Amino acid sequence: MKRFNVSVLPGDGIGPEIVSEAVRVLKAVGARHGAEFGLREDAVGGASIDLNGVPLTGDVLKRALESDAVLLGAVGGPKWEGLDYPVRPERALLALRKELGLFANLRPARVYKVLVGASTLKPEVVEGVDIMVVRELTGGLYFGTPKGVERLPDGTERGVNTMVYTTPEIERIARVGFEVAMKRSKRLCSVDKANVLETTELWRRVVTEVGKGYPDVELSHMYVDNCAMQLIRNPRQFDVIVTENTFGDILSDEASMLTGSIGMLPSASLGSSKKRAMYEPIHGSAPDIAGKGVANPIATILSVAMMLRYSFDMEPAAVEIENAVEAVLNKGYRTPDIYSAGTTKVGCGEMGDAVLKEIAG
Ligand code: NAD
Repeated sequence: MKRFNVSVLPGDGIGPEIVSEAVRVLKAVGARHGAEFGLREDAVGGASIDLNGVPLTGDVLKRALESDAVLLGAVGGPKWEGLDYPVRPERALLALRKELGLFANLRPARVYKVLVGASTLKPEVVEGVDIMVVRELTGGLYFGTPKGVERLPDGTERGVNTMVYTTPEIERIARVGFEVAMKRSKRLCSVDKANVLETTELWRRVVTEVGKGYPDVELSHMYVDNCAMQLIRNPRQFDVIVTENTFGDILSDEASMLTGSIGMLPSASLGSSKKRAMYEPIHGSAPDIAGKGVANPIATILSVAMMLRYSFDMEPAAVEIENAVEAVLNKGYRTPDIYSAGTTKVGCGEMGDAVLKEIAG
């Protein structure tokens, strides 16, 4: 029996509701695939502010660092909006990402056949879309120095941000891109702006070099402006995209909106070892529906599938969850955010029950 320790951080708003469904699924699938999970639940974000006065305590961080993976719900809400930035709930996320050294953000965008109508794009454009955006998370334009705004002698101001990447930073994110591509359809598109930005000219060279170690993966390159356009024009041409921090931020949001359903999209953030990983839905704490039992737990359930795939090498278990989710959707179960006439409206717990029932067969 394999045993993994998971740090469970439900957070705020709908966080506790969706995480509790995902944990039920994790336990059930683990039991079927010979794995046991030591689950340690802790408060983060607003919940931790209320309890401890800070969004992330040293103890919770220590436990997250010691665990084999972190499962996070979401943080934040109106109750804590007036606080100073250093003690806001969102600080917990930034601190966890930084301390765990999470440099690769994986965001899949998959359009389920039965939800094709939820997209704002035409069904014939989005049907079959299944994209993974691998975004560099700790470098590039968001972190490069010099940065800041300075006042000039003539009274005007000057703002600066710097896009910086070193060869090792590009190599490690490129390797993640290639590894992910190996687990999918072996196609990787590296997105840059090498015709204008010298940093990304280096990016293109280094990615190409790393690619020589992955002869089975078909590597292509695309400029970011073209990629933004192609994602809308013909998104099915993409499988795995690897790109710079800012480009990835924008492109992963664009890709996720192809699916039209924020409550369905998971994510993984990976660091330099298997023990450094955090899994969370891409959506926030949805305070408007918190406590009503109507939140969609699928994004968090699919985040658990990503955990099994990327942290624990339990591919069959991951696929079992993904297939169960698809089967439940095919049977017509819908939380209110994805409801349409003729389907069966269910709450958060009932959606969890339905997925569990599929897994049990
Ligand atoms: P949000 O993602 O929480 O909600 C946007 C809309 O989508 C809302 O109408 C919400 O009801 C709906 N929604 C989101 N997830 C859903 C789900 N699983 N099921 C059904 N409906 C869902 O974004 P927001 O309203 O801009 O932010 C609310 C709070 O969440 C803020 O405090 C924000 O800072 C925080 N936030 C946290 C994270 C995170 O923890 N990673 C990410 C984004 C926002």
